[in-house]
Amino acid sequence: MAFVAPGDPLELADVLRTAFAEAYDGPPAVVARAPGRVNLIGEHTDYNRGLVLPVALPHATYAAMSPRTDGVVRIGSLEEEQPWTGTVDALGPGDVEGWAAYAAGVLWAMRASGYDVPGVDVLVHGTVPLGAGLSSSAALECSVALAVCGVLGVEPDAAVRGRLAAACIRAESEVAGAPTGGMDQTVSLLASAGSALLIDFDASDHSTTDVALGLDRADLALLVTDTRVKHALVDGGYAARRADCEAAAAALGVPSLRQASLESLAGLDDERIRRRARHIVTEITRVSDTVEALAAGDWAAIGKAFRDSHVSMRDDFEISCPELDLAVTTAVEAGAVGARMTGGGFGGSSIALVPVDRVEAAVRAIDAAFVAAGFGAPQHLRVEPAGSADLVG
Ligand code: ADP
Ligand code: MG
Repeated sequence: MAFVAPGDPLELADVLRTAFAEAYDGPPAVVARAPGRVNLIGEHTDYNRGLVLPVALPHATYAAMSPRTDGVVRIGSLEEEQPWTGTVDALGPGDVEGWAAYAAGVLWAMRASGYDVPGVDVLVHGTVPLGAGLSSSAALECSVALAVCGVLGVEPDAAVRGRLAAACIRAESEVAGAPTGGMDQTVSLLASAGSALLIDFDASDHSTTDVALGLDRADLALLVTDTRVKHALVDGGYAARRADCEAAAAALGVPSLRQASLESLAGLDDERIRRRARHIVTEITRVSDTVEALAAGDWAAIGKAFRDSHVSMRDDFEISCPELDLAVTTAVEAGAVGARMTGGGFGGSSIALVPVDRVEAAVRAIDAAFVAAGFGAPQHLRVEPAGSADLVG
């Protein structure tokens, strides 16, 4: 059965070192890796000061880097044809177009937060599918941030990782121009292998807690299906949902929807705004319910939370699509204890918790359902929860 391979970190780092030496006439000083992520539950809750429960993927982006003495910045990717060249003084909002803005933005934001970032040569390469809702963007940003730490000799302890996450969030919002709530960068920099990461965006420091999954004990596998329907966060759907949530909070007179009760939503006159707010308020409760159910090993309760979450995103928040709906219903019919769309929506990926001995049948059923519906072929990832970004070798 063909799953998207995460690749071996040491082998991928070697491929990158060789390509770097060819592109820039010398080996890189450091190679860093940072994982993509899949969110178990808690969608669009991060920018509403809510709770999220993502898992770091074994699939990661690798960044090779060497410092320069002339202030020049060169950024290339094995996934993109166009490299970018500029200088370390002009990496901010409006200075960089296209994919390189994600990397340049990190250099800019780290300088803005006090790191003495020199000119650098950077080459990236990764195994996180691009634009699949699995956060290749944060993986790219965080790999660059960790590589800068390597170049500067900064030990990436927990406090530094918090600062790096903030810099990566600024890079994506302000330089790449894609609004982001902060979940993706936080989990990429702070996840622990084998666990999901509960992030509370109401705490000023975005407090994080490891939540053990115990998939092995339950004989369950985490199956991610990339529908290959491309979402484009910059295209406005995400920003429109964010604006609706802010309008709801303003109408209710609360600082964010985290402070709103389900009962209070009856006071919202606009039917669409009321549905948007209902998704956020109920979704935050479902994250807490899922954390409790994981501690109790209550997979039926987790299945219910996943089901309710998907329906809420489909009907109240309106961010699903026919391909995601089909992947989810087919996974459940094939024996998944829970399935839902994941990520920002409008395409991207679904997740399913599938008994280990039914994974192959589930993949086959989803592939067949897509053929029957006339959809393009999806691709699948089998995910063991991985650890956070680090230097390689
Ligand atoms: P997601 O984060 O879900 O994959 P986004 O739209 O947020 O989707 O980010 C995808 C974009 O990030 C790509 O279109 C590209 O601009 C950039 N990107 C991510 N990984 C790489 C990479 N390895 N090389 C070049 N660009 C990348
Ligand atoms: Mg992204």
